[in-house]
Amino acid sequence: MERSKRRRSMEKGSELRSIFLPFLSTSHIIPLVDMARLFALHGVDVTIITTPQNATVFQKSIDLDATRARPIRTHLVNFPAAKVGLPPGIEAFNVDLPREMAPKIYMGLAILQQEFEQLFHHLKPDFIVTDMFHPWTVDTAAKLGIPRIMFHGASYLARSAAHSVEQYAPHLKADSDSDKFVLPGLPDALEMTPLQLPDWLRSPNQYTELMKTIKESEKKSYGSLFNSFYELESGYYEHYKKVMGTKSWGIGPVSLWANQDASDKAARGYSKAEEEKEGWLTWLNSKPASSVLYVSFGSMNKFPYSQLVEIGRALEDSGSDFIWVVRKNENENDGDVFLEEFEKRVRESGRGYLIWGWAPQLLILENAAIGGLVTHCGWNTVVESVNAGLPMVTWPLFAEHFFNEKLVVDVLGIGVPVGAKEWRQWNEFGSEVVTKEEIGKAIALLKEDEEIRKRAKKLSDAAKRAIQVGGSSHNNMRELIQELKEIKLSKAQANP
Ligand code: UDP
Repeated sequence: MERSKRRRSMEKGSELRSIFLPFLSTSHIIPLVDMARLFALHGVDVTIITTPQNATVFQKSIDLDATRARPIRTHLVNFPAAKVGLPPGIEAFNVDLPREMAPKIYMGLAILQQEFEQLFHHLKPDFIVTDMFHPWTVDTAAKLGIPRIMFHGASYLARSAAHSVEQYAPHLKADSDSDKFVLPGLPDALEMTPLQLPDWLRSPNQYTELMKTIKESEKKSYGSLFNSFYELESGYYEHYKKVMGTKSWGIGPVSLWANQDASDKAARGYSKAEEEKEGWLTWLNSKPASSVLYVSFGSMNKFPYSQLVEIGRALEDSGSDFIWVVRKNENENDGDVFLEEFEKRVRESGRGYLIWGWAPQLLILENAAIGGLVTHCGWNTVVESVNAGLPMVTWPLFAEHFFNEKLVVDVLGIGVPVGAKEWRQWNEFGSEVVTKEEIGKAIALLKEDEEIRKRAKKLSDAAKRAIQVGGSSHNNMRELIQELKEIKLSKAQANP
């Protein structure tokens, strides 16, 4: 009797309470919230702290989890828009944010820091998981005497590649900006050009300093979490842990794991999937298996009109049916006529379906009619394509996309590059326009390559195994939670 009482109280004492603090941008919020939901699925009590506008990205998912009696909730903190001179509701780095407003979002975030810290003290978590862009949380966690786990929105390969450039500066030895160099010290001989590197790695700027601070905070953290899985990039997973000297857990694919029901997939992001189903789903269901290309460039990108025309023409010439997720450019009205006529033409011929703004990507990718993607290599999309077993035409644009392309094309052999040459800022057009011939050639190569399809399918099977009991991500999750429980218990025993 006494023993079982003690065990029950031990078990109770080891129930974990956590805080998750995402960054203020859609594609960082989505995977971190999926992770938070996975911790709740494993019985950890979770509070996600964010601002009202940013909560709209995921609140529907949390509401669904509440109906499943999962211990998870959102705690809203108002964004100090007026204090930093922003209109109400502008509180995220997203595609519609005017460039000059971006520094004000950072200012607002700095103001919020104190409130976040107070909440951490008030809510008394046993550990915190915070986005990489909140490096200060490592000191707060130290003050509270609890582990801080840092969430990386990227791949192990991308982080390893950035580390290689920081350490060896191989691009400085290239003869010109378009000359190839090899990234030193990595498991594979990956080649890039200086123009494909993010600007902050090419030459130091303010962002380089921020990334240094983030790295230092990571080294002082309990460990890091990635939306990746061992079988996807095992060499880079091991390499990264070695060079950083830190613990890290790949617990992906988190979208596959956290969004098992169609209702979860439909609830994600800004989607009005239920209302729109009649359109895209009916169209997609009328197509043969693996015949449709899904063309999307993530949540942050806008192309200039000249580039939209090249994409449209390439798709029309490709002979493939397609879903194209398009975003208009408010400043360039001259593109409207082309896009309107294009949409009318491809609808009438049944060749294509345009989705304006936001697509229910998870639902679309799992549809049997989809045969491949044209993607910007955003990490979440790469992982989601791998889940779905789909090969990719790769068209990296900004952030760490060019590194992700190396993984997809050179390491995994599941992608065909359009041959993008130039990295650019997420909120700039850059000078490169990829021609319809280049796009068309990559699509044609993708279509005729049977092996690429087989490799993608094999990886999809590995992804599904990773999240099952005994799979690599499942084990990582279990072990991490166990470690965190032991830390809590030993603290309790030290301070009875
Ligand atoms: N996404 C979506 N519909 C869209 C655009 C994006 O569901 O129309 C989701 C996508 O599934 C992924 C995330 O938003 O989870 C985009 O992240 P990614 O890393 O691929 O690209 P980013 O938005 O950072 O460029």
